[in-house]
Amino acid sequence: MESKPSKIVCVGRNYAKHAKELGNDVPSEPLIFLKPPSALLPSGQPIVLPHGAGRVDFEGEIGLVIGARASAVPAASGWDHVGAIVAANDVTARDLQRSDSQWTRAKGFDTFCPVGTPVTVDKVDRARLAVVTRVNGEVRQEAPASDMVFDIPALIAYISAIMTLEEGDLVLTGTPEGIGPLSPGDVVEVAVAGVGGVTNPVTAADR
Ligand code: MG
Repeated sequence: MESKPSKIVCVGRNYAKHAKELGNDVPSEPLIFLKPPSALLPSGQPIVLPHGAGRVDFEGEIGLVIGARASAVPAASGWDHVGAIVAANDVTARDLQRSDSQWTRAKGFDTFCPVGTPVTVDKVDRARLAVVTRVNGEVRQEAPASDMVFDIPALIAYISAIMTLEEGDLVLTGTPEGIGPLSPGDVVEVAVAGVGGVTNPVTAADR
């Protein structure tokens, strides 16, 4: 990311099989939360596992970079506000997500939002968007965007009815099934078809 977004809006449980793998129902409307921009991490830099945080998972996701301010946008024009697509990893401290009543801590640690290089949306085949996550070269998640419960235009409409999305803001659209824990020494790559990826080694925090 060339400049930091004012906010990172994330969508939870937006793939039915992923909701199920964690024992959750698919929500009746999008479930959203925020990650702080301080969590952003470029490709190549290490994801730091916080001391004492317990299990930390990868979540490969299709990221959207807002290209034009969006406030109360109808779904029919949702794509008009997406400037670029980017591979993203919604790194999550799973044990803390379960023990806390909201997700700020579990989702908000420094280094918990790796993102790749955005590709402008006009250079992307929107009909074939898909995300794949590899850990140490082995495929762990793979799903097309068409598996989303709420599609990208619906997400832009829903979020922009709550908060104005500014140019440069980032939207993470949810993760498909196959999430799993990261260990020190792992290398995790999230790739979006036609867009490229974000690859990060994993390290443990110093005490
Ligand atoms: Mg996620």
